[in-house]
Amino acid sequence: MATSIEPVVATRVAPNRSDRSLRQRLIDLPVGRKLSIGFGALTAVLALVIGCLFLTVHRLGAANSDIVRVASARSQAADHLRFASAELRAAQQAYVIDGGAGRSSFDQATARFETALGDLRSSGADRVEQALIRKIATGYQTFLSTDQLIWDALQRDDAALATNLTLGPESLAFGFMADDASMFSDRAEVERLEAIARFDSASSQARVLGAALGGVALLVMLVASWLITRLIRNPLHRVQQAAERAADGDLDATADVVGDDETGRLARAFNSMLAKLRLREETLHAEHHREEIAAKVHRAFEMADEESMALEVIGLTLSDILEDRSAELLLADNSKSNLEQAVVVGPTPDGPGCPVASPFSCVAVRSSSPVTFASSAALDACPHLRNRGVDNCSAVCVPVTFMGRAIGVLHTVGEEFAPPSPAQVDALCMLSAQAGARIGMLRTMVRTQVQASTDSMTGLMNRRTFQVRARSLRRADTPFAFVMADIDHFKRVNDTYGHEMGDRALKTFSDIAKASLRHSDVMARWGGEEFAFALPGLTAEQATATLDRIGLELAARLSTSDIPAFTVSYGVVNANECPSMEAAIRLADDALYEAKAQGRDRSIIADTTHISFALDEPRLVRMAEQSVAHHGVLAGLAADDDPLEY
Ligand code: GH3
Ligand code: MG
Ligand code: MG
Repeated sequence: MATSIEPVVATRVAPNRSDRSLRQRLIDLPVGRKLSIGFGALTAVLALVIGCLFLTVHRLGAANSDIVRVASARSQAADHLRFASAELRAAQQAYVIDGGAGRSSFDQATARFETALGDLRSSGADRVEQALIRKIATGYQTFLSTDQLIWDALQRDDAALATNLTLGPESLAFGFMADDASMFSDRAEVERLEAIARFDSASSQARVLGAALGGVALLVMLVASWLITRLIRNPLHRVQQAAERAADGDLDATADVVGDDETGRLARAFNSMLAKLRLREETLHAEHHREEIAAKVHRAFEMADEESMALEVIGLTLSDILEDRSAELLLADNSKSNLEQAVVVGPTPDGPGCPVASPFSCVAVRSSSPVTFASSAALDACPHLRNRGVDNCSAVCVPVTFMGRAIGVLHTVGEEFAPPSPAQVDALCMLSAQAGARIGMLRTMVRTQVQASTDSMTGLMNRRTFQVRARSLRRADTPFAFVMADIDHFKRVNDTYGHEMGDRALKTFSDIAKASLRHSDVMARWGGEEFAFALPGLTAEQATATLDRIGLELAARLSTSDIPAFTVSYGVVNANECPSMEAAIRLADDALYEAKAQGRDRSIIADTTHISFALDEPRLVRMAEQSVAHHGVLAGLAADDDPLEY
């Protein structure tokens, strides 16, 4: 039976986007996005770190090289100044010694000194150095002033004064100036060395900074890797574990993954698949269980040779399926027009007591399918439920059919709004199908057996069945009169009035004879227009009275009918006085022959006084065959399976 149960998915469903925390949103991001963001972040961090390092090192290098360059330039300028001052002094002394000649060299030296001093001023000297430069410049001015005095003295040819000035104040002024220049030079050299030292220090700091930033970048990468692993690998691991459990047969395994990313969707799809597998497994179990029950019921029905046994199987199965519920099988009789209660199960001895009278008054039969009523009080409930005079109830009705024809209905009632489960209804349908098939088959068999043992035109048993009954009479040592009857001149009836009229004549005689006989009497159509009687407890003489009565009845009926008048001749014998049934047949047949010979319409009793019980069997059979052949029934006898000997 089809069910529409939706699989239950155990995975938690992600909340609405607006309600989700940042963490949840991060979890819900697609794996591809997570990877892109993770690696993008790492790349950005690395780029940032490298950029910062480059910039820092570059700036540090530039700054320090500037410092070094300035310091070097200043040191160089200071040296130039020192040399220029020495040159200046030497040029002065030279032109003093020469008495003023070579003054131009002194002027050139003056120009170089001033150039060197200008270079020194523009060499980025600090405050202290500026003061020193100013001091050198002042010393220079003093030197120049003294030189002017020296030059004036030479112009006056006062060489002694010039020499004294040169060795006296000028020498002092030069000494101060030279000392200052030398001091400046030393200081500039010291600063240059310090700048170089600072450059080295800054470089090593940059290295340390680079290493630190690299460490931070490494840490960031590690954290990012851990985060990505945690966000992607862990859910996949849980799905893998659930899949392994499922592969080991545990269909209750679920992948407990929260999130709306690919891993979350994978987990939900996996859980949904397992839920469907569980449902399928339950369905297969249910189907297997149903098939087992169906096979058991089938085996039980196979062993039920009679309808009563089949009904017993139905009762047991109904109890099994419905447990405490009240149920019944309403079965149509042979006329197929009346439903009668054939099986009752449940707590009430009378069963549900559905009053439906015929199959076609039943809703379930009309719809050819099972019907379920949750409440007998519902507007669309079966009226037979409402009018039953009991409390409101639920009910199920399942038609029982055989080869498409309704032969009954299975009916069960229970508490209102608590009808049998779909599985129970399913089982009832299985039972109804098998019950219909079995009962229909048994009834068909019975009908076939009846047809096989009955003459279809007259409804009398045929010769074969008659012989079985006669055999049982002889076995039981029941005395009986055996009669062979033959309609007189029956050929004329056929020839004159037609075969159909002949049939009606046969049926009329059969009906009248049957009506005249007792319940225990046995009558058969022996063949053609011949009949046989076994009248238990009657002697041949007593039998002739019965036959006379039949004759009178026949004449009376025919006198008021359009069937032409006819008579019947009988040969009668006391069967118990014969050694065998063949002997009885032969003697009755002989007597019948005698009745015909004597003019027909009479009964002749066979004389058994001379019959020998010592007759050998082959002869007896031969005599019987001759006798029967005489009356055209040999072929019929030869076809019998049953032995003639009793
Ligand atoms: P007798 O008095 O000597 O018995 O003469 P009879 O005509 O009755 O006997 P006969 O054996 O000559 O004819 C029997 C006839 O019965 C011949 C056959 O056509 C007829 N008959 C046999 N079976 C049936 C039957 O089922 N229906 C009809 N209408 N006729 C039958
Ligand atoms: Mg005949
Ligand atoms: Mg006849």
